[in-house]
Amino acid sequence: MNFRHMDIPFTPAEGQLFERIAQAAKSLGVPCYLIGGFVRDKILGRKTKDVDIVCVGDGIALAHRTAELLGPNIHVAFFKNFGTAQIRWQDVEVEFVGARRESYRSDSRKPAVETGTLEDDQDRRDFTINALAISLNEQDYGKLIDPFGGQEDLGKKLIRTPLEPSRTFSDDPLRMMRAIRFASQLHFTILPETFEAIRKNAERIKIVSQERITDELNKILLSPKPSVGLDLLYKSNLLKIIFPQMTDLVGVETMDGKGHKDNFYHTLQVIDNICRNTDDLWLRWAALLHDIGKPATKRFEDGHGWTFHGHDAVGGKMVPRIFTRLKLPLNEKMKLVRKLVELHLRPISLTKENITDSAIRRLLFDAGDDIESLMMLCEADITSKNKAKVKRYLENFELVRERLKEVEEKDRIRNWQPPVTGEMIMETFGLPPARR
Ligand code: ATP
Repeated sequence: MNFRHMDIPFTPAEGQLFERIAQAAKSLGVPCYLIGGFVRDKILGRKTKDVDIVCVGDGIALAHRTAELLGPNIHVAFFKNFGTAQIRWQDVEVEFVGARRESYRSDSRKPAVETGTLEDDQDRRDFTINALAISLNEQDYGKLIDPFGGQEDLGKKLIRTPLEPSRTFSDDPLRMMRAIRFASQLHFTILPETFEAIRKNAERIKIVSQERITDELNKILLSPKPSVGLDLLYKSNLLKIIFPQMTDLVGVETMDGKGHKDNFYHTLQVIDNICRNTDDLWLRWAALLHDIGKPATKRFEDGHGWTFHGHDAVGGKMVPRIFTRLKLPLNEKMKLVRKLVELHLRPISLTKENITDSAIRRLLFDAGDDIESLMMLCEADITSKNKAKVKRYLENFELVRERLKEVEEKDRIRNWQPPVTGEMIMETFGLPPARR
């Protein structure tokens, strides 16, 4: 077969793999294409190890023929009911499926599926940037098949549905979460018309399982700047439905001319801050939840202004309930988040003068091995616009860090145990208990 050169740079291993798939498809007489996220990420120059192949025919048979051509020990995992098959080759995961056409009913996001053409299969994709295909067929090998202007949208950084947006989101409301997740991950804009359709269909999210929703929420939190996705979730009205405790943080109340900060936007900034220092999902969750107890503890005290006394403890108690509702794991990760929420005000109280060693020791004891994570959360919690103030607070935390180190060192020396005991000396030298 004569493979034409493509504009999209495949690695040598990918090139070899795709040639085998093309050979297998030719021998079976089924047209086949690279499709979806792999094509999108290749054009964007993002790393990707998941390859989706769609063929106009039997995907499982194509997977088996490809495996034969790749070598003797390639295992094919296949699911007859779904008509899908997977193989792993080197570090690439390849999924094969026959092209399909979908139709939806209003009470489920699971469509009725029939076999279809490549065009049908591209029509059922959620966004133009996810509907791109590359031919692996001899006559036009490497050709980009882009019926909805996905390549242009990639250039414009736009998220847009191929078909009528309201229908797309109503059919499968998970796509609303996916749109916002892609906007956050790729730093793309959702086309205003598409976003309006999300707002209109927000209530439909209720037919999606909690696991799928939380999966997308976690992907938003793991994106480079989660505030982008979280703000879109809020503005689309989805957040109110999937996570109402978060929207309770929104807004500023004023009394006697005194306002407080908007705790929702403050929280978003704290998350973006912590993301500069950690990729850890659970520290990002701790940032998201650190002030979650504020609405329940908000009071206006005459002559004092707004207070949120006890929001740390109240917030900590809310963590297991929120994790249960969102079907997040109720394991040591949840305990870590709870601990960080409960302790997030403690290091600030240690920035005052005349702090005793025992106060420092109590925090070291309570935070245990998570002291560094706690300090990271506290530093992220500084969101003042006043640069001098931020600098001063950070310097204060630096002093707390020094005190923590000092006290740890002192305690290490005090708790030092000689490596040899008196009993061992008596036994080795045959001595009775005595001064010697
Ligand atoms: P990621 O790997 O980051 O999750 P992806 O786009 O590869 O991104 P997958 O969930 O692996 O996401 O889906 C692969 C492709 O399947 C998508 O690119 C899209 O074309 C299609 N797809 C996935 N989920 C949906 C959906 N809910 N509705 C329509 N098309 C979808």
